[in-house]
Amino acid sequence: MLGYAIANLSLKAPGQVPGDLTSDAMDAVADLADQFSMGELRVNHRQNLVFVDVLQKDLHALWRALNELELATPNIGLVSDIIACPGLDYCALANTRSIPIAQEIGLHFSQTDKLQEVGNLTINISGCMNACGHHHVGNIGILGVDKRGKEFFQLTLGGSSDENASLGDRVGPGLPQAEVPAAIERIVDLYIDLRKADEQFLDTYHRVGIEPLQGRCLRSGWPGQEIRVMALIKDRKLIDDRFVYVADGEKIPENVPVIVSLTQWQDQLDALISRGKPVGVLLKSDQHPEAIVNSLEHLDVIALEFPTFRDGRAYSYARLIRERYGFSGELRAIGDVLLEQLHYMERVGFNAFDFESDDPERAFKIASDDFSVWYQPSGDDRPNAVQLRQKKDRSD
Ligand code: SF4
Repeated sequence: MLGYAIANLSLKAPGQVPGDLTSDAMDAVADLADQFSMGELRVNHRQNLVFVDVLQKDLHALWRALNELELATPNIGLVSDIIACPGLDYCALANTRSIPIAQEIGLHFSQTDKLQEVGNLTINISGCMNACGHHHVGNIGILGVDKRGKEFFQLTLGGSSDENASLGDRVGPGLPQAEVPAAIERIVDLYIDLRKADEQFLDTYHRVGIEPLQGRCLRSGWPGQEIRVMALIKDRKLIDDRFVYVADGEKIPENVPVIVSLTQWQDQLDALISRGKPVGVLLKSDQHPEAIVNSLEHLDVIALEFPTFRDGRAYSYARLIRERYGFSGELRAIGDVLLEQLHYMERVGFNAFDFESDDPERAFKIASDDFSVWYQPSGDDRPNAVQLRQKKDRSD
């Protein structure tokens, strides 16, 4: 009896756009499907092609023909066999570009011996939260997010789409695009250091947990390299920012918390309230908070922008919002948020800060603890120097 096999054709040559093939190459592959696979060729979700019915005795001939076409890339299931959605290059919904990141990672892992050393490991990239690249279920997932016009990428670890399917765990705050390939390289290198014999990436990940990978790759411990991340500190803790900023003219995405402009808030107030998701509004420094005073109870976040560190209007707005309007939700400082000013921002009522740093929690603590006594009273109810002196005099 004749034996048949399926043959996978990788469309992930180093530096190539994942899943792309020229029309000439596609014609040639179709001819090979006629010759070797009963005319049948399939596309699979990993953006590769499959010859479905190949006589086992023809496998070598098929490989030779593909090799002549320079299409015999031996990386199926390996780290450079990356799924990447079209991203900003082709997709109108995208926040970020996916393809260049896939190309850069693919080029980095182009050596066959390195590929074999790493073993099976899936990387999936999506250019926005619609997740066409299935980033949630990549062993390493990469999700592109827009942070007020800048591209950032959120990494996840531990996802899987095999029989033990799982969603990846988020690794800290998003990274700027230029930092992503280096972060992936360091995750892979650390995995190689940590793994025991015969372990695959997920085995090691489930054994050691997210901490070592996260700690090594996004914080201190990267010798000689400083990684600046876009961080959100809220109530003095580093958190994932679940809110998506929506600029004027952009469609409001479904099912996610959003921070909209004042115009959107005023024009779409009923729709934004009734959609049942947390919502915030962003006030520019020339937009007085009086404009939202009648709808404050519907807001989860008020973001006040510092267009430059010299512009102090947001300090006054923060005190108004907290002390006169009684807003108790998240009051977020965004824009030119300097470490040196965090302390003062906290005193006027801000409890969330969106800023860049290589070690946000530590930087925040240092900046926030800079002073222990103040002459000026403020809305934070902490006693100033005069009150402390009076208290001391009374107790003497
Ligand atoms: S994930 Fe987003 S950017 Fe990528 S193809 Fe889907 S909608 Fe477009």
